[in-house]
Amino acid sequence: MASTAPNSVLSFADARACVEQHAAMLHAQARETELLSILDSLNRVLAEDIAADRDFPPFPRATRDGFALRAQDLSSLPAKLKVIGQIKAGTSLPPEVGPVMSGTCVEIMTGAPVPDGSDAVVMVEYTSATGDHVEITRGVKSGDNIVPTGSEAHANQILLKCGSRISYPQIAVAASVGKSKVSIYRKPRIAILSTGDEVVDISATPGPNQIRNSNSFSLAAQVLAAGADPVQLPIAPDERTRLRELIEDGLYSELLLLSGGVSMGKFDLVEEILREFGAEIFFTGAMIQPGKPIVFGRISKGGKQKYFLGLPGNPTSTMVTFELFARPMIDALSGASPSSLLFVQAKLKADFKTKPGLTRFLPARVFGSHANPEVELVGWQGSGDIVSVARANCFLVVPPDLERIAAGEFVSLLPRS
Ligand code: AMP
Ligand code: MG
Repeated sequence: MASTAPNSVLSFADARACVEQHAAMLHAQARETELLSILDSLNRVLAEDIAADRDFPPFPRATRDGFALRAQDLSSLPAKLKVIGQIKAGTSLPPEVGPVMSGTCVEIMTGAPVPDGSDAVVMVEYTSATGDHVEITRGVKSGDNIVPTGSEAHANQILLKCGSRISYPQIAVAASVGKSKVSIYRKPRIAILSTGDEVVDISATPGPNQIRNSNSFSLAAQVLAAGADPVQLPIAPDERTRLRELIEDGLYSELLLLSGGVSMGKFDLVEEILREFGAEIFFTGAMIQPGKPIVFGRISKGGKQKYFLGLPGNPTSTMVTFELFARPMIDALSGASPSSLLFVQAKLKADFKTKPGLTRFLPARVFGSHANPEVELVGWQGSGDIVSVARANCFLVVPPDLERIAAGEFVSLLPRS
């Protein structure tokens, strides 16, 4: 059952929406889980909700070293108050000391529970203590320098949702509720198949007209960074029988990424062979640079729908199309809740001219201060130029309707992970 017109080249927005739609269907499917220690869960996807085991904070917490008192007692300054006790972090005021009353205060350290009767903490910097009294030179409002009980989260409140990608703040949250082990979705296996008669293994000495297989490695690195397991298949020649065999092998994984062989050349056989497998193809190109010849579809295999992406072989195109189109599929297969591409903005350093028609993702470097972020294109020789991508730290996004962007204008950037 082959479908889709042989030439369905979509706009970037439509191609991305198409992938997101299929990713959402994959995301809805049930998947296996495993129990991992929290550090091993880094960059993986949570398969359970994590709830607060108590209020956060569990007591009204002082956020400054100073004196806990009644804010009203500081209505005329300087004020002199009697110090009736001291509270270090991890302790509380002995019950016999009683609550803080008007005219009294308690010396308190950051992280300690604020004693009953007090409603603010004045910072030690505005005080001078002599004997059992303290003179205070600055007023406070009720609530100053105190985080009330339960103000960050209440007991049993969900703090991390199933489907969250785990990074260091999520690890901090899990640790703070005492979860040393967490339920995590199993990693999807992502097959990587580089094609091309000119492509040789990186351990081989390439002949004068050959090139080393960098795409299998950049793709494997991108798959690892996406929290999945890469399965690097042998290089496929531009020859039907072997290509067919290796595609079949790739269909055992949850997603098949191919590189090369999807352009208009005589030996670009990938799309044709995928169609021989009965592939349903959703698009055969996207109006982007780099990465225009990209094929997205699925093949029914053993009662399951296996998705594939035929990425262009030019190394920059392979890298960019992975981030734009393979990422959402891998996220979905990993159980991660759908997320949109995240763009940031910076000021263009120098005038830029282009031809309209394509959404461009050009290697660039963002630099400068937070108040004046600037971006500059790195000298780029086109889709084959991986050296300039390695020098870049983002991709400058040029919308398809623009012919020029003036220096100083704000432009969108896709940060490079
Ligand atoms: P293709 O998409 O097959 O027409 O390839 C486009 C360009 O990318 C050609 O210059 C190829 O030599 C190069 N290329 C294809 N596959 C790889 C690979 N695995 N590693 C590095 N470069 C590649
Ligand atoms: Mg090729």
